[in-house]
Amino acid sequence: MIVILLGPPGAGKGTQAKSLEDSMGLIQLSTGDLLRKEVNTGTPLGKQVKQAMDEGKLISDDILIAMIKHQLQANKSGFVFDGFPRTLVQAQSLDLMLSERKKAVDAVIELKIDEEVLVQRIAGRFQCKNCGAAFHEQYKQTAKKGICDVCGGREFVKRKDDNAETVRARLQIYQQQISQILPFYRQQKKLYQVDAMQKPEQVTQQISTILKVLKNQSLTKQIIH
Ligand code: AMP
Repeated sequence: MIVILLGPPGAGKGTQAKSLEDSMGLIQLSTGDLLRKEVNTGTPLGKQVKQAMDEGKLISDDILIAMIKHQLQANKSGFVFDGFPRTLVQAQSLDLMLSERKKAVDAVIELKIDEEVLVQRIAGRFQCKNCGAAFHEQYKQTAKKGICDVCGGREFVKRKDDNAETVRARLQIYQQQISQILPFYRQQKKLYQVDAMQKPEQVTQQISTILKVLKNQSLTKQIIH
């Protein structure tokens, strides 16, 4: 299956993508994570994109499309996209790259959330410096204070772009992007909306239900034809 998660920063795309990776064996393609890896390891691409990322600005379509092309070539299985596409050009290129592989997007799930809740959510996010596990000062603290639940690491970091000012800039950019992309997928009848103000487990449950229904429909089609 090929699933796209859309939603503003902080809506829980990463969390939901991870859970789809575990429950459905999909490969999570998070363009934000891929780009941050480039920045953190100081590659030429990382150096090129660092400033724009710190300011919450979009990276060029060419760079993103090349990155995704590489990932599609390297992996055969289904995917859950998180953070891509963000522009109409990216959405159209993704359709083309998939059709060349006789594949297509199955579902686009928009995570809907209130802006004020978002600013709160994002401001409290932090990650383990060693393994990248995500935590939150209010919603998901570490089980033992100061110790990562996953790897036992004791150092934590905050993303440089997780501050109120940058978040507002990113939200504004998101609204502009989404207004291009939603009609594209709505027209293809692939768009589903989920209330992301619910608990993460409830959001996961709703997404799973949507995907199960789609999977059954596609099985039924195969039997009929
Ligand atoms: P995210 O983790 O998805 O919020 O992405 C962090 C940053 O990476 C964004 O603010 C952009 O600078 C860059 N980025 C990630 N995905 C894309 C994309 N599809 N198109 C352009 N820039 C992107």
